[in-house]
Amino acid sequence: MKEKRTGIIFNTQKFSIHDGGGIRTLIFMKGCPLRCIWCSNPESQRPEPEIIDVKTNCIGCGDCVCVCPKEAVNPLNFQIDRGKCDACGLCAKSCYAQAKKLTGQVVTVEELVNIAVKDQVIYRNSGGGVTVGGGEPLTQPDFVYEFLRACSMRNIHTAIETCGFGDWSEVEKVFRQADQILFDLKCMDEEKHRAYTGVSNKSILLNAEKAAASGKEIRFRVPVIPGVNDGENIRQTGAFVRGLQRQNSQVKVELLPYHNFGKDKYKWLGRKYDLGSLERMEKEELGRYYKVLEELGCNVVY
Ligand code: SF4
Ligand code: SF4
Repeated sequence: MKEKRTGIIFNTQKFSIHDGGGIRTLIFMKGCPLRCIWCSNPESQRPEPEIIDVKTNCIGCGDCVCVCPKEAVNPLNFQIDRGKCDACGLCAKSCYAQAKKLTGQVVTVEELVNIAVKDQVIYRNSGGGVTVGGGEPLTQPDFVYEFLRACSMRNIHTAIETCGFGDWSEVEKVFRQADQILFDLKCMDEEKHRAYTGVSNKSILLNAEKAAASGKEIRFRVPVIPGVNDGENIRQTGAFVRGLQRQNSQVKVELLPYHNFGKDKYKWLGRKYDLGSLERMEKEELGRYYKVLEELGCNVVY
């Protein structure tokens, strides 16, 4: 295995209570092989740094035009020509109003561990730890493996939040090193999965089966998107999870309500959000879907 001591992240977040047990520090890796149409972190998708352009913050000072070595900023409306921009970040550094921001930062294992250990007492008292998500942690398997290993050596509980896509030989070493796996299952039908995420779900389902066979604590998570995967898909997912539960009692399933908090980010990145008119769901609306899972005998997490 290659040793990889640097990786690229787009964010860290302390005091999270939603992605694993207790109070946790979240690490968001940059890069994802999927393009889910509901993705709320579009800045996570591309593996390289890029500029977020929050036009509503712009005060029109023109500094970004002056510093850009690629002449990529339009001097009339300060819009970036992304074909010319190489994400050097100079405009972000000079933008007092924080209209232009660079997303994507190279970090070392040691830097992330230093962030994590600061809250070790909080993890201990709450049953928490660190969760590596993204983006997709499996796009940087060697780095994530090294980080998880470094945390384990300091007795910090580790979890990864993953779509499970990829070759098992890469996936397995990261899964083996994590204490808990939060495994997204987006759609059981292969054609729909391809249509809504851009990739087949074959390797995902195979990896889910192999992960469950390892006996590890796995929480499957279904982002429920109205009109996309909320019908028969919930029953199919429940049947799949129920089957895995028979070999591993630590397998559970959780439903996540659709939200559109990431909608504006698409504009800031110069991309289109395809679910523009879809209303967000309330958690209470998930009740009927949880009932389907319970009737199938699934261990559910609310
Ligand atoms: S530096 Fe920032 S505030 Fe000034 S014109 Fe550029 S984007 Fe707008
Ligand atoms: S990131 Fe660099 S190349 Fe891109 S617009 Fe800003 S200054 Fe120009």
